[in-house]
Amino acid sequence: MILKFAQLLFGGPVKNSLNGFEFASYTKVEDLIEDLDFSTIVCVDGALADRKGNEEILLALKKLRQAKYGYITPVFFADSLNNLNLFVDGAEMSAEEMLRKGSRIYTNLKGINLGKNCEETDLRLLTFFYSRGQSYRALPKLFPHTDAIYEYPEISLLLQSNLTIDLVSNASWELQSKEKENNGGSSLLKMLSLTSQGLIEKGKLIERIRLCPHCQSGYLNYIDRCTLCGSIDFEKRKMIHCFTCSHIAPQEEFKEGMRLACPKCNSILRHIGTDYDRPVESYLCNSCNERFIEPEVYAECLNCRKKSLPENLIVRQIYEYRLSEKGERAVKMGQIDFKIELFDEQQNMLMPYFCHISDWLLKMRQRYLDAEFSLIYLNIKGLKMIEENVGRECLVNIVQELAERIRSMVRFTDLTTNSSEDTFWILLPRTSAQGGDILAARLMELEKLIMIDEKSIARIECHSVQIPKEYVGKENATMLFINQYEAARRE
Ligand SMILES: [Zn+2]
Ligand SMILES: [Zn+2]
Ligand SMILES: [Zn+2]
Repeated sequence: MILKFAQLLFGGPVKNSLNGFEFASYTKVEDLIEDLDFSTIVCVDGALADRKGNEEILLALKKLRQAKYGYITPVFFADSLNNLNLFVDGAEMSAEEMLRKGSRIYTNLKGINLGKNCEETDLRLLTFFYSRGQSYRALPKLFPHTDAIYEYPEISLLLQSNLTIDLVSNASWELQSKEKENNGGSSLLKMLSLTSQGLIEKGKLIERIRLCPHCQSGYLNYIDRCTLCGSIDFEKRKMIHCFTCSHIAPQEEFKEGMRLACPKCNSILRHIGTDYDRPVESYLCNSCNERFIEPEVYAECLNCRKKSLPENLIVRQIYEYRLSEKGERAVKMGQIDFKIELFDEQQNMLMPYFCHISDWLLKMRQRYLDAEFSLIYLNIKGLKMIEENVGRECLVNIVQELAERIRSMVRFTDLTTNSSEDTFWILLPRTSAQGGDILAARLMELEKLIMIDEKSIARIECHSVQIPKEYVGKENATMLFINQYEAARRE
């Protein structure tokens, strides 16, 4: 493969790291994009070190990553550009190094239909992951002034992201507030969505942040207050507990010259442990005089001003991400198979295990009258059509919402499995037929969630079922029952 260098010049002094190699020079990214193909290595040179210079480069990178060929193009900076380095494949490298790294990227992409994969955002992202090799990890970077607080710089470029140079250089509020127009969404939310589809996988956990449950802002002020009256006016005080009369008060009130004397019963307190001790309550409210061990803490959102208890804040784990096997398959096939995942990995088990446990419960039911259990059959039809009408991104959101609602209805001890792409089974231990019917009816109601318009209708079919007596004693009774049950529905 013959690779070619393209030098993208800005107005500053040029380092010319490509000397000795053949290259074409451009001063406009649009011209470079015209000439771009799947053999170009871009080297950005002549960067102006000021804000405007950096802004021009960020804009040029965004344009490049939106271009048909530019989404996987190896890009390097001749000089280090601090915060911007995270957006490209390297900085301050020799031409040989750039060539080596660039050629590895193109080698990785052999056999991939890059023209086709560029047509869809998710596939572009996955192809980018794929092109950077197996050991590639999308790394989160803290940008404190962005909505999501963390972004994945390289990925954000592919998303038409709203990252501006001021956000990237952690500049102040005023500078960023006016620039919010072309919002391609946060790369962090995109990572979450791709993970929920199994297309990428979590790597190392990097950070954990807490967000306001009302507006998802991360700008929180933690306030502690008196557990009784809610006042924030309290102090940490050294307390003394008089053994003679059980009076508890701040140490100052016991002071009598050099001695300690109880202000209530006048006992002289000489020995700690015999005459007095220090109680664990060490905070004293100046408003209501209540003593307490720990103040109550709540978080006030500096954005929407709503107050939340810490346990109600949204906890978001910030991970590194890598391409999954499923994602790799999507890149190679040039299409993403969307599978509905209604249940958590922890609860969802493979069909044979599910059936095994159900068989065991069946035997238990035979022996003990109160060992009843129910199965729920859940089938969702028509999602393919919704996808065609409203696009996959929207479908993914619908299914995520659906999954969340279903998970909230299912108990932790209930087990789930899927027998096919659109058919799920739930096993409800210690649940009567009647209890099963109630849950089934509630699940049916979720159908409203997946009605988009008259053209895009999906159907949820849901029944509570009991494995009939005649199956008891048969080998693989549950599997047999499920197969026959589903076959009867298909007819
Ligand atoms: Zn006393
Ligand atoms: Zn108080
Ligand atoms: Zn808020």
